[in-house]
Amino acid sequence: MSIASDIQQIKSTLPPGVTLVAVSKFHPAEMIEEAYAAGQRVFGESKAQELTAKYEQLPKDIEWHFIGHLQTNKVKYIAPFVSMIHSIDSLKLLQEVDRQAARSGRTIPVLLQIHIAREETKFGLSAEECEELLQSEAFATLRHVTVCGLMGMATNTDDEEQVRSEFRAAHTLFASLKDKYFRGNEAFCRLSLGMSHDYRLALEEGSTMVRIGSLIFGERNY
Ligand SMILES: *Cc1c(COP(=O)(O)O)cnc(C)c1O
Repeated sequence: MSIASDIQQIKSTLPPGVTLVAVSKFHPAEMIEEAYAAGQRVFGESKAQELTAKYEQLPKDIEWHFIGHLQTNKVKYIAPFVSMIHSIDSLKLLQEVDRQAARSGRTIPVLLQIHIAREETKFGLSAEECEELLQSEAFATLRHVTVCGLMGMATNTDDEEQVRSEFRAAHTLFASLKDKYFRGNEAFCRLSLGMSHDYRLALEEGSTMVRIGSLIFGERNY
């Protein structure tokens, strides 16, 4: 199977309004060009340096999404061009994104990363931490970020019911935050859930953005 046919195959299974983020981390620019030639425009990367290098090398109408853990001192490298940051996991990071977006004369769309998995190691905010952030005076002063929704990663397990319940919890939190803090705010409409092995379940539970890497580009060599 080629990259182009894999993308077409995945896209044909996505409901209308769902965005495919092709996760190209650790893969060379040539593979991204192949996906680009097949019409793919949204790509996901997880390292600031790698993303910046690829941005410089590749067509400028690509929408780059940052999906990995982001350190505050790296925000400045991606702020001038990044289309969306999925992995906001602290107020401090969000403040730095706002500051660097202002310096670039931009407003950056972001998602709050929530912790839904059983694993301790995955980053993300609890429901309480999300609320605290959204209620804070510091958040109210930010002018150069737009909170567009939530991102979550389910536990890496074959237990479908476990994964499904985690996605469902993310959707429930999304609906409750929308009701409490984003009523009438059309920007808050994104739920980024699902990777290669669990994106079908994520779609069934209301995902509007799937982040798919290995199913398109094959295994990564770390
Ligand atoms: C790497 C990564 C993906 C893609 O994973 P695949 O299993 O290759 O589809 C999705 N989301 C995040 C946050 C990632 O880091």
